[in-house]
Amino acid sequence: MKICVFCGSSFGRNGAYKRAAARLGAELANRGIGLVYGGASVGLMGTIADAALAGGGSVIGVLPEALADLEIAHQGLDELHIVSSMHERKAQMADLSDAFIVLPGGIGTMEEAFEVWTWSQLGVHAKPIGLLNTDGFYDRLQGFLDHLVEEAFVKKIHRDIMLSDEEPGALIEKLAVAEVPRDRKWIDETKR
Ligand code: AMP
Repeated sequence: MKICVFCGSSFGRNGAYKRAAARLGAELANRGIGLVYGGASVGLMGTIADAALAGGGSVIGVLPEALADLEIAHQGLDELHIVSSMHERKAQMADLSDAFIVLPGGIGTMEEAFEVWTWSQLGVHAKPIGLLNTDGFYDRLQGFLDHLVEEAFVKKIHRDIMLSDEEPGALIEKLAVAEVPRDRKWIDETKR
């Protein structure tokens, strides 16, 4: 099993984010779950890769050529795939993985999380997604996702694909038993 982790290329303001990334990396290694991530050595990205490697876990990085210098490619990974574009990076990270975990992060992290969530709504994949809600980082986002359902823009079964937990181990366990619905937005609408 492999889990794709999206997280900040910075550390953020709260030291708890770095500690959570280290705990998740160690937890993946302990459970024999491979880490797939963006391949950088900076910020929380570097922290989680270092922790997984230190625990004896396997780590695959996928980095676009254009970012190879900017994000400083991690030199100690089991595999580093250099791809030609950001699109190819996201597609390859998703193909290689069985589930996704989203740590605290910035614009890139949000974009990656929402893209894989969209793909599940369209039936492109049926892989669960979990927010690691360190120190309540994702409380407001979760409130907003509920608001999307209340306002009838998102179905509850699609909203519920985005799981959450504050504890890395508990989140991995939720993902392991999660069943992603095969209900596809557009196909369903044509039935109405
Ligand atoms: P950030 O959350 O902004 O610190 O970025 C985390 C990761 O997302 C980094 O590897 C960024 O290169 C990546 N990233 C930034 N912008 C995008 C984007 N538009 N699409 C996909 N990934 C991105």
